[in-house]
Order: sequence, then C-alpha cells, then structure tokens
Amino acid sequence: MRHSHQLYPMLSVEDALEKILSVFHPLEEERVPVLGALGCVLASDVYATGDIPPHANTAMDGYAVIAADTAGAGAESPKTLTVIENLAAGYLAEHTVTRGSAIRIMTGAPMPDGADAVIPFEETEQTGDQVRLFAEMAVGKNVRSAGEDVKVGTQVLAAGMRLRPQEIGMLAALGHAEVQVIRRPRVAILATGDELVDIEASLTPGKIRNANGYSNAAQVIEYGGVPLMLGIAQDRVEDLTARIRSGIVQGADLLLTSGGVSVGDFDVVKQVLMAEGEMTFWRVRMKPGKPLAFGRLAAEVDGELRTVPVLGMPGNPVSAMVSFELFVRPAILKMRGFKDLDRQLYDAILDDLVTRKDDRRHFLRVRIEERAGVLHASLTGEQGSGILNSMVQANGFAIIPEDWSSAPSGGHVKVMFFE
Ligand code: AMP
Ligand code: MG
Repeated sequence: MRHSHQLYPMLSVEDALEKILSVFHPLEEERVPVLGALGCVLASDVYATGDIPPHANTAMDGYAVIAADTAGAGAESPKTLTVIENLAAGYLAEHTVTRGSAIRIMTGAPMPDGADAVIPFEETEQTGDQVRLFAEMAVGKNVRSAGEDVKVGTQVLAAGMRLRPQEIGMLAALGHAEVQVIRRPRVAILATGDELVDIEASLTPGKIRNANGYSNAAQVIEYGGVPLMLGIAQDRVEDLTARIRSGIVQGADLLLTSGGVSVGDFDVVKQVLMAEGEMTFWRVRMKPGKPLAFGRLAAEVDGELRTVPVLGMPGNPVSAMVSFELFVRPAILKMRGFKDLDRQLYDAILDDLVTRKDDRRHFLRVRIEERAGVLHASLTGEQGSGILNSMVQANGFAIIPEDWSSAPSGGHVKVMFFE
C-alpha cells in the first residue's frame, strides 16, 4: 500500500466525476404500476386512446336547455320551462330536451340529447316542475365538449420526460394502469469497520452505530434508486470481498462502501479493489472526502461474470454523505435516464470568515437563507468530517475553490442546496 500515493495521483472533483460517469449509462426500460413511476423518466411516447372527457358534459350545476328557449330572458322578463328529469353525474338522460323543456343536471353529467346549453342554478328559480330562467344562454354555454382536454390520437406525453404528479393523473385518465419507464438502479450499500454495530445492537465498549449505511441508503431513495442493504463488513479482505460479491449477485448496478479507504492499517477497501478487481482512481482534491476510491469488481452470476462499479467512500459520516452527493447522485440520475445531472449553483454572501491551509475544494456545511433578496450562507458549526450534526443543521454546501487561501466574511461564494 506504500506505493498508492505514486500510483494514484489525486484527481480534481471534475476529473473524478468524469471518470465515474463514463462507466454509467441509462438502464433498460421496464413496465411499472403507474404510481410507482413518479419521478421516473418515461421510456415511450403516450398517445390518447380516447377523448378526455369522453362525452360532452355540463361544467355547472343547473338546467340543460335549448339556448333558443332562453332568448329574451332577464331579471324582469323570466322565461319558464318544464323540468322533465333530474340527472346526476355518472348517468345518461332518459329523455331528450325539446323546445319548452329542461333537464335538471349536475356538474359532470353527460349533456342530454337535444340540449345545447346549461343555465346555472344561480340564474333560475324552480317551483314544482316549472323553472324560471333569468338570463340568456348562448349555444354551448357551460358545456364541456368531448375531447376538450385531450383529443383521441394526439400525443400527450413524450419519451424522456420526467413523470410528475400531473403526468401520473393524465396516465390514469387515459386508462394506463402501467407505464413504460427507465428502471430504477439498485445501489448496494456496505458499511465497513470492526467498530460498527447496527441500530438495534447495544453499544459495547469501543463500538459505534452504523450511521453511513442509513444516510447513504436514504440518499439512494431520495434520488430515485433502490438500496440493497449489505450490512457491515469487518475490516478483513475476505469478509469485504464476500459481501461485495453478494451485492453483485443480488443484482446491484453500483456498489457503495464507506470506510476503509484511507491510509490506516486496516483500510482494506483499496486492497480488495486492487487485488480482486480494478481500481481506477484513489483520492480527490476535496474536503471532506479526499480518500475516495473508484473501481470495479466482478462476481459470477448464473455462470457469467458480472462486473459492477464500486465506489469506496470515506468512513467519516459527513465525508460519506458529501461524496455521495457529488459523485453518486449524478451516477444514479444518469442511470435513470436524466440528461441534467448537475446541481444548480447560486451566488451567496458567506456570513463567516473561512481560512484554510490546503489546496483542496472545500464543501462547507451551511444554512442558506434569503435576506433582503440576497442569499446568505452561514456555517452550521464545527466543520469536522465526523460532525454529522453539521449536516443536520445544513440545507446546502458553500464551495471554497482550491486556489483560495481564505474566504472573507461578507464575501461572495457559490452555494448548492441539498433539496
Ligand atoms: P475510516 O474511513 O474507516 O478510517 O473511518 C473514518 C471514521 O469514520 C472512523 O472514526 C470510523 O469509526 C467512522 N465510521 C466509519 N464508518 C462509519 C459508519 N458506517 N457510521 C459511522 N461512522 C463510521
Ligand atoms: Mg474503518
């Protein structure tokens, strides 16, 4: 391991991201129940198989009439019609509206034959089966025509678009119980470290709870992937290798580890990648998150060798989350078929003075707020890579470029929101 530093030069954030993204591609399509498709990229165009609405219907509660029967009606000169039926939404009228007659009708009910307008209740007064009309209605007034929302045969949704709640509603309106989308990536998550125990286990001396497994799995879900929980690996080559292979066998599209990529005596992730697979790079010029390892590992699945990208993230809880945000989020989005993988950067005023000694890009945990039309970012306390609370308090990162020796309080910085 002594030679790792010479073999693997430290990469810039951009170069690391480019190397990572180059091995990911949009995944295959699959058919999913329409509600499960929320947030997914649509894989094929959707055409209207029928009109929406399927039949002409009333937009108001009122009376379906022949418009000509309302001619001359006014507050002082009401016209009177005979009510021949009472029609609720969901049913067809039994009678035809003829001159002198009207059908009492509720919003959404199909227009009865013969009628060509609806006069709202507010403009009428009914006594027994006689209704007095106090206003004129033009032909078509308060009538929604068949297909006024969507005409049969027209293209409603285009492949490549991201499905939002309104598209889900449109698919339902068109009768699609399932929809063709780009499938969600399965991201296997493995925490490493002899010191780790799972949530429910009692903390015996020397142990801490596995936080990263859960924060990273939550990030996978947040960005639309499916986490495969691989638990905790001991800091031994055999245990780590076996668990990574089990993730590949379970169908992972990407395998994430946290911990064990630094220069400590028991940091075996790099060792496993180099000995059992291939390590593309190690170390990125950033803080937190410098010891990031990327490579791949293969396992036999159904008699075939399957190779899966492996990203070894540092163990400190903030480092693991920052590495995920910068490198795993775009990889997941790319697999899901998205084109825009970048987080938007905004200009903000940094409220605190920041000084530093290294030449890495710093991602400071900040609370970003708008004050008098300007974004302000203030540090969420101690910035150590083990201070998970600095993430809990934060809603974004402030980015300090590699070549700044300090950032003055009141100076401009670029910020990135988590949400
Ligand atoms: P490592 O990168 O393995 O040297 O770990 C760096 C620090 O992060 C150590 O203090 C570890 O105990 C801690 N750490 C590693 N993995 C986790 C984890 N899954 N949850 C919480 N802390 C962790
Ligand atoms: Mg460790």
